[in-house]
Amino acid sequence: MRQRLAILGSTGSIGVQTLDIVRENPELFEARILTAGRRWELLAQQAREFDADAVVIADKNCYAPLRDALADTDTKVYAGEEAVAQVAAAGGTEVVVNALVGYAGLAPTVAALGAGKKLALANKESLVVGGEYVMRVAAEHRAPILPIDSEHSAIFQCLAGERSAPRRLIVTCSGGSLRDVPREALADVTPEQALRHPQWSMGAKITIDSSTLVNKGFEVIEARWLFDMPAERIDVVLHPQSIVHSMVEFEDGAVKAQLGSADMRIPISHALFYPARAERPGERFDILGHPQLTFAAVDRAKYPALDIAYDCLRRGGTAACTMNGANEVAVAAFLGGRCRWTDIVRTIEAALQRAAFAPHPAPDDYAAADAEARLLAREFLKC
Ligand code: NDP
Ligand code: MG
Repeated sequence: MRQRLAILGSTGSIGVQTLDIVRENPELFEARILTAGRRWELLAQQAREFDADAVVIADKNCYAPLRDALADTDTKVYAGEEAVAQVAAAGGTEVVVNALVGYAGLAPTVAALGAGKKLALANKESLVVGGEYVMRVAAEHRAPILPIDSEHSAIFQCLAGERSAPRRLIVTCSGGSLRDVPREALADVTPEQALRHPQWSMGAKITIDSSTLVNKGFEVIEARWLFDMPAERIDVVLHPQSIVHSMVEFEDGAVKAQLGSADMRIPISHALFYPARAERPGERFDILGHPQLTFAAVDRAKYPALDIAYDCLRRGGTAACTMNGANEVAVAAFLGGRCRWTDIVRTIEAALQRAAFAPHPAPDDYAAADAEARLLAREFLKC
């Protein structure tokens, strides 16, 4: 039987590549539900191509044009962020691909897991904001989470078939677009510069997060929850070639790594096909084309975001939720030309200093912590 998919964020970088996999394997997958934030034209086009049962546009202002564009089809059209979570939980699909960006991904993650669905998770912010809560819901409903983030997919693949708990997770880091920019020059970096990632072509927000290493900090938090590994046993190493996607060390001293091209369709396929493997067309990885794989320590002074993320993990509660909310506001401000690149981490620090802290958050506390972090970030940036 074909797996029926809900693809949340189908118009984004991960969403579009997920649809490439569906297109390559029509006998295995059906895209039944598609959602977007604002880009209703592309969503309408996708709905037609895949003959979707339903689409959701999060921005209610885009509802009317989307409805009109699909008026001659059977596709149901909904609008609003709540509707995204509703379709994640609704019947008619077995798998939810969460390719949303930011805090908006949390409610749909919880909704999908609460309905016992398999969750192919790209939206790392779900786990950053409410990792403990998300993992609890997954366990209660026996709902599997398959990571799409390349580092976590690599770790998942290294852990496959192992019976002993690993000793250490080693998350690799490309260093992002500003890897070779000296520290003194960072205050003058433009959005265009920061958006030019050397290896990966991704959505704007994660590309900026990669340049500050907020993304790597988030990935440490993501790994903590996905693999139930304490922060002190998760390391980050700089690996500019982005060929080794991450590693796992075991108690006997063995280290396993997963290697391959920097192509997100590989981890997306892994999540969709697991425990099988896809037969993907195209060029094969040639190790001889990569004679030099290098590894180095991360410059913690240039990239304070990494230590901030570790600190949030140690504090637990709503700390990482505050970090995420402030980061979202600051990244949007930087992209809009309203603050400097160096203000992103300063905004996070200011929000963390001032925000209320809930050590044992109830589900509603995440929304409150997120709202407060955004307010504090806007106050700090005066925007
Ligand atoms: P994009 O910005 O390219 O896409 C985001 C998607 O979410 C789009 O479909 C967008 O719609 C939709 N969206 C945005 N805001 C909202 C909202 N408030 N409510 C509902 N939908 C919304 O992001 P990426 O694909 O790059 O990233 C998605 C997730 O995957 C992120 O968490 C990222 O960290 C993670 N990830 C991404 C990787 C990559 O290679 N891109 C690699 C590893 C992880 P619209 O198009 O209308 O704006
Ligand atoms: Mg990643």
